[in-house]
Amino acid sequence: MTLFPICGETTRLPVSLVRQALRLAGPHRTPEDADLEQDLRCHLQVHGADDHFALVLSFPGVTSGALWARWTEGTRPIDLKVLPDCPSIDPDSREPCCEFADHPGGHSYHLDSASIESF
Ligand SMILES: [Zn+2]
Ligand SMILES: [Zn+2]
Repeated sequence: MTLFPICGETTRLPVSLVRQALRLAGPHRTPEDADLEQDLRCHLQVHGADDHFALVLSFPGVTSGALWARWTEGTRPIDLKVLPDCPSIDPDSREPCCEFADHPGGHSYHLDSASIESF
């Protein structure tokens, strides 16, 4: 199977969003700074001028979703969103998609994530 290239655009989570992330994570767990992904990398398939998305924090459980940062090219993230998990599972390997529901591009198991070990 051919893997699609991953976007991999990087940015840094601003301090203001670190605080927001901890607040949003509160109902799900006892959050600590160390749990947050602050060096962000876009997890989507290579895309055009659309916004980048990076996973900031996974909530425990299979249906609880995760916290995502969204940003546009050349800017820092200005907002965080709790998005439900993509429900797709690779029919061959049974590997679940690591992205959010209705994400653009291919599912994570169709992307070449070899260079992104934190998946
Ligand atoms: Zn991107
Ligand atoms: Zn998916």
